[in-house]
Amino acid sequence: MNVYDSARMADILTANGYAAAETPEDVDLVILNTCHIREKAAEKLYSELGRLNRFKQARRRKGKNMVFAVGGCVGQAEGKELLCRAPFVDLVMGPQNYHRLPQLLCRAETEAVVEIEFPAESKFDHLPESSSNDTSETGVSAFLTIQEGCDRFCTFCVVPYTRGAEYSRAVGDIEGEARRLICQGAREITLLGQNVNAYHGSDGDKELSLANLIHRLAEIEGLERLRYTTSHPRDLSEDLIAAHGDVAKLMPSLHLPVQSGSDRILKAMNRQHTAKDYCRLVNELRAARPDIALSSDFIVGFPGESDSEFEETLALAEKIDYAQAYSFKYSPRPGTPAAETDYQVPEDIKSARLAALQSVLARSQSDFNATMIGRTLPVLFEKPGRHANQMLGRSPYGQWVHTDLSADVRGRIADVFITRAHTNSLAGQSAIDPNALTPLNVSQAAVMVKGQSA
Ligand code: SAH
Ligand code: SF4
Repeated sequence: MNVYDSARMADILTANGYAAAETPEDVDLVILNTCHIREKAAEKLYSELGRLNRFKQARRRKGKNMVFAVGGCVGQAEGKELLCRAPFVDLVMGPQNYHRLPQLLCRAETEAVVEIEFPAESKFDHLPESSSNDTSETGVSAFLTIQEGCDRFCTFCVVPYTRGAEYSRAVGDIEGEARRLICQGAREITLLGQNVNAYHGSDGDKELSLANLIHRLAEIEGLERLRYTTSHPRDLSEDLIAAHGDVAKLMPSLHLPVQSGSDRILKAMNRQHTAKDYCRLVNELRAARPDIALSSDFIVGFPGESDSEFEETLALAEKIDYAQAYSFKYSPRPGTPAAETDYQVPEDIKSARLAALQSVLARSQSDFNATMIGRTLPVLFEKPGRHANQMLGRSPYGQWVHTDLSADVRGRIADVFITRAHTNSLAGQSAIDPNALTPLNVSQAAVMVKGQSA
């Protein structure tokens, strides 16, 4: 979501006459858009600020200024304190205040500004439409925030405090933004929200669920692929599970974090479901879409987690057999209930548990990728690869696929015969004839190459 927010900030700045600087010496304004989810992410801000301050001081010696703004959740959580630790910062703002950037920057010319009050208005009603006609900026695969904030209050998590209360954007706004993204070259849209499946946006006097919204967006011509992230198991409704079977444009992959396999820990985390509930949902999803690729987040070393409770997490990870997963050592976050408890797990135990879990997860990810060898997958090409004459695209399951191709096939979907599988990517051959490619337009984008494929 920070990637999405940064793009919206760039839209605001472009509308106000800013352009991307070519060298550090030319920079008038730096915005660091930050993440507070774990301590490591937050600490990155200060090392980056220290590095950039050398450029600021060099500009100052030449009589020029370089304004430093800190946005995102570290700004929200630390507010004024951030100015004590980094007094050379000019503006601190939260994730719900950046629509006021022009006014805030004006004020920051004369005094240090901290703007972290949650405003009464929604920023979405005040953001300019993206003016970019440059398809390489929007990208073939674009993000679109539909829901923000969270009311679930998991005991380890800062999000409800930094992003604020749950908010769903209106259906019309989302449709408008989706159409603009497609006009700018997007073929795939990932719908974003901290708890995206809690979505309940208004459509006139009706309210639509995420499943309803997906059905609606799937009707947009030129949009070929839809994904959504991140979901909470408690909000995975029947209609959303059914959509995975019914909507062809909804890709067969789902990030459904479980965090732990132990019911006692899940309860202490306030996740409001058991391991069994989660497995039942997985079975229902697999019944609706048998090839669905599941991914998850895990936290190891939550306060009070015993060896046997961690074993339950390992057992769940083995049982579900994830296509992909992220796993983290528990990081106490200031102001959250879990950070206050006395039973913090020692760092060396957390590290050992993380290594054990990651080896299980890496094995199932490699096994999943290996099942792709010998299959032909429709790949949506996104960008050139690192090597000459190589293109990179995504499979329906979300893996990167490397293909040797001299033609620029960005934005096209073509079949690729998978020949190799690695832990994090696939490689294969495509039968695209570069000489037979006709110019791409929105409605043609996805259909034209299919007919030529292997
Ligand atoms: N809304 C999503 C998760 C958003 S945060 C959900 O409910 O699942 C992304 C991930 O960061 C979480 O799934 C969790 O695994 C991890 N995370 C959040 N807070 C954390 C903390 N205090 N320590 C370690 N990992 C954390
Ligand atoms: Fe954080 Fe997700 Fe829990 Fe909300 S549902 S509190 S975002 S982990």
